[in-house]
Amino acid sequence: MHSADSKISDLFVIGGGINGVGIARDAAGRGMSVTLAEMNDLASATSSASTKLFHGGLRYLEFFKVRLVREALIEREELLRALPHISWPMRFVLPYHKDMRFDSDTPTSRLLTTFMPWMKGRRPAWLIRLGLFMYDHLGGRKILPGTKTVTLSGTPEGAPIDERFETAYEYSDCWVQDARLVVLNARDAEARGAKIMVQTKVTSARREDDIWIIETTDQRSGETRSHKAKVLVNAGGPWVGQVLQETLRLNSREGVRLVRGSHIVTKKLYDHDKCYFFQGTDGRIIFAIPYEQDFTLIGTTDAEHENLDERPVCTDQERDYLIDFAGHYFKRDLCAEDVVWTYSGVRPLYDDGASSATAATRDYVLKVDETGGAPVLHVFGGKITTYRRLAENALDKLTPFFDGMEGKWTAGVALPGGHFPVEEVEARIAKLAQRYPFLPQKSVLRLFRAYGTEATEVLGQARGFEDLGHDFGAGLSEAEVVWLMEREYATCAEDIVWRRGKLGLHLDQAQIAALDAWMQDKQATKAA
Ligand SMILES: Cc1cc2nc3c(=O)[nH]c(=O)nc-3n(C[C@H](O)[C@H](O)[C@H](O)COP(=O)(O)OP(=O)(O)OC[C@H]3O[C@@H](n4cnc5c(N)ncnc54)[C@H](O)[C@@H]3O)c2cc1C
Repeated sequence: MHSADSKISDLFVIGGGINGVGIARDAAGRGMSVTLAEMNDLASATSSASTKLFHGGLRYLEFFKVRLVREALIEREELLRALPHISWPMRFVLPYHKDMRFDSDTPTSRLLTTFMPWMKGRRPAWLIRLGLFMYDHLGGRKILPGTKTVTLSGTPEGAPIDERFETAYEYSDCWVQDARLVVLNARDAEARGAKIMVQTKVTSARREDDIWIIETTDQRSGETRSHKAKVLVNAGGPWVGQVLQETLRLNSREGVRLVRGSHIVTKKLYDHDKCYFFQGTDGRIIFAIPYEQDFTLIGTTDAEHENLDERPVCTDQERDYLIDFAGHYFKRDLCAEDVVWTYSGVRPLYDDGASSATAATRDYVLKVDETGGAPVLHVFGGKITTYRRLAENALDKLTPFFDGMEGKWTAGVALPGGHFPVEEVEARIAKLAQRYPFLPQKSVLRLFRAYGTEATEVLGQARGFEDLGHDFGAGLSEAEVVWLMEREYATCAEDIVWRRGKLGLHLDQAQIAALDAWMQDKQATKAA
């Protein structure tokens, strides 16, 4: 079946990752008419596979990427205020030993080799302190505490760490539930008038004078549809080049560099709530982060990803690399059997011709092409942390095409569930526990960190778990599943257990299959 939309949207966005939904939300809030198409689930690609940090990127200072680090550091607190439910402060412990050597080709290492050749690849403590001093002061920090030196002997921070590390530096960054950030932006965009279509692939788009004609296919029903828009936004993430060349059939020299990053998840490796920042002898860094209450997240790798059609997975080699890397720091031995889950994503980096995947720029690049009539904006690179600024800059670039476009508005504006001051988090969690005393503390925490003030809308007037309908296991109730299907675009179990939340870590295959069957049944009944 084929149908056509006669309405002409101001903006048609290809891609429901963080950059696509961020641009859609910003544009809708400025009164523009917006349509967004995502070929799978929202955040089904890179935007659910990140390390989930709102961070400036301490290691980018080694590359003198001061603008990028500064913008991201300022954003950290801006976003923490706007989404105090799905984002929270974290302390990072960076163990230091004077004999640690680094084989890295950063501009900083080259300077050190030139001016302090006797260091032979060692990074002096003053250099790390200087980096952390800049990190503390570049972004106008108000909420997050600054850097301090901590001893690792006889302290909780030192307990899991090998005894040769006696000192560490501790600094701040923030955590964010990446896939939830995407869904909440999509919901907010919709609340401001945008049309959000999931499981809808853009198969082609062509210019007809000043208008784009866009063809989509519904991945479930096969139904095709034509849409019209004044401006097209290509936020295809890893597919940005493919959309540009194959879907839009444009000639362009712009390229994307696909760099895979993988993470491993183990059962909780230590008992406190801080993260570790480990430096490797190869010049790379990895994090070990408390994850989903019972687990530890370790990542990431940097590997060229050749084939876009291949779903990225953590290879055995990447898993062993991470085990080995973390094993240099942790007292206890880690092995493949400790790994309970892995995930992998592809960074769609702008191809700046850098020699290695680690050195390729993490900054975003926005390119407008209006040579053939109606304009298109392509999005390359970017970080979860800077998505809101990226969206503002994208709309700045589109200002010439819309007379009287309204100005920036998203700074500090809360996303659904985040309408409360960040200082009130603990009190609100306690209040939620009080209101639903039948919920275990872990569930209260999970629900608050997912839904914030909307948790009470999910749970309603329930006085016992049985009032929430069917129990799918691990604290997942029918009421929550219905909320996710009706309010958060979830269409199958995978959307719920690996993206809207991470209950897949607690549910077995049979429970996930039962959830999926229930959801398909519910959708069939609704359609009938
Ligand atoms: C391992 C790793 C760790 C990272 N860690 C961090 C971190 O800690 N902090 C941070 O700030 N950033 C981090 N990043 C970077 C961040 O995750 C990405 O920059 C960001 O998610 C990219 O978002 P996007 O919207 O551009 O792409 P995506 O999330 O990939 O979205 C693009 C979407 O477009 C859709 N699409 C493509 N073609 C079509 C089509 N024809 N029709 C319809 N839809 C289409 C895809 O299905 C996809 O969902 C990390 C990245 C990786 C890989």
